[in-house]
Amino acid sequence: MGLMGQARKFAERLLDLLFPAQSRCVFCTITEGNEMCYNCRQHFFPLRPAQAVPHVSEVMALAYYEGVVRDALHRLKYSGSHELARQLGILSSQLWAGDIGRYDFVTSVPMHRERYIQRGYNQAEFIAREIARTADLPYVSYLIRERDTPPQHSLSHYRRRQNVKDAFSTACPVPYGSRILLVDDILTTGSTVAYCAGVLKGSGAREVGVLVIAYAEL
Ligand SMILES: [Zn+2]
Repeated sequence: MGLMGQARKFAERLLDLLFPAQSRCVFCTITEGNEMCYNCRQHFFPLRPAQAVPHVSEVMALAYYEGVVRDALHRLKYSGSHELARQLGILSSQLWAGDIGRYDFVTSVPMHRERYIQRGYNQAEFIAREIARTADLPYVSYLIRERDTPPQHSLSHYRRRQNVKDAFSTACPVPYGSRILLVDDILTTGSTVAYCAGVLKGSGAREVGVLVIAYAEL
């Protein structure tokens, strides 16, 4: 390679360094661009699930649990992408800004210790921390999961209730009269967040609101 060739090679490397290869939409991983693509963005909007959840004052959701949303949450659960969690946190704060601002603290539905160690992260906590950061609220891990419970969707209605009963307790004192925003990735029956909210209220919280990314209609 001549001097010119070497110079060209060097210039190409420099350009690669200055302008890295186009990244892709973190949701569909297909469309090029640094942020969420137009098509994926269409799946997200403020959504209030119709079902009432005991101990919970309001339920906020961002999407239905289907298609690209389902795939993205699955990826977040099993690959723990920080960028995906970050985008979901920003999106939550954008779509529910006024409502999130009413809360004093953000917390998340906990994962059992053994599973947490196995996986190394809790996707609900990832999202909750990003919401707290973008909304400028403190994040506190108020809850712990005493027992590892089988996935809710694999159980009958009766077993679901038994499944989560007494599975949660508080990890630290809950400020008396506080309003807590409880975050999870998916809402199905609502029994998990209902028990968590019950524990938080029993420990001093005045109000518990729930924010989930996706709502899975039964
Ligand atoms: Zn996309």
